[in-house]
Amino acid sequence: MNYHVLTLFPEMVLQGLNTSIIGRAMEKGLISIEAIDIREFSSDKHKRVDDYPYGGGAGMVMQAEPVYKAYQWIAEQIQEKNMNHKKPRVIYVTPQGSLFHQNTAKEYAEEEDLIFLCGHYEGIDERVLDMIVTDYVSIGDYVLTGGELPAMVMIDAISRLIPGVLNNDVSAEFESLQDNLLEYPQYTRPENFMGQTVPEVLLSGHHANIDTWRRQQSILRTHQRRPELLEEANLSKKERAFLEQLQKDC
Ligand code: SAM
Repeated sequence: MNYHVLTLFPEMVLQGLNTSIIGRAMEKGLISIEAIDIREFSSDKHKRVDDYPYGGGAGMVMQAEPVYKAYQWIAEQIQEKNMNHKKPRVIYVTPQGSLFHQNTAKEYAEEEDLIFLCGHYEGIDERVLDMIVTDYVSIGDYVLTGGELPAMVMIDAISRLIPGVLNNDVSAEFESLQDNLLEYPQYTRPENFMGQTVPEVLLSGHHANIDTWRRQQSILRTHQRRPELLEEANLSKKERAFLEQLQKDC
């Protein structure tokens, strides 16, 4: 997976992603992250990339030309490298996009190249967005100062689904939001922490009982914290009965 991030703050993206699991994935060559400085593509002698909005109003708007040139530069390289004329997917991170979800991460993890476009100030001139963007994606219903953090959030979530990035690929399979359930509670040593002990079943060595307990904890936790997810969860007959009992009890 090769990520190409179009941004006014390339060092923020690179410094934010070069540690821990994602940093190691880059070292191993499982992913690459390139941050392209949109400012370098400005034809203004002061490298200006923003201007006042037509029609008035607060703030500044990123101009179309530097964004378009930066896009063209990277899109040509990707097309040449892949020896095809398929246009790469361009994700504009924006609070106006559809919400980023674990399933979106899974879908993106199948791509070979992804271009992220990060806005700043009041956003980007609509005309260039119409020309180059394939996906409008938001990380939540709040407004941030720029698109760098959202792009980093998405890159992190996508990368951990790429084979080899996590030491144990199984850990990406059974966790929150897979199957529309939240993950069960986790415990590690010591067995007794300030008088609080680990649930007995986890010490039993009985794998079937542990699996049942974990599934039930997942259902319970989802019921308590994100009940709307359960509408789409794939539950067995027994699990559905367990959920119905929980719903009756509350
Ligand atoms: N004026 C824009 C609007 O109302 O939709 C908001 C611009 S915001 C201050 C600047 C940039 O931050 C956006 O262009 C976008 O790239 C990024 N951004 C802000 N909040 C975001 C979110 N929730 N998800 C994804 N990107 C976001």
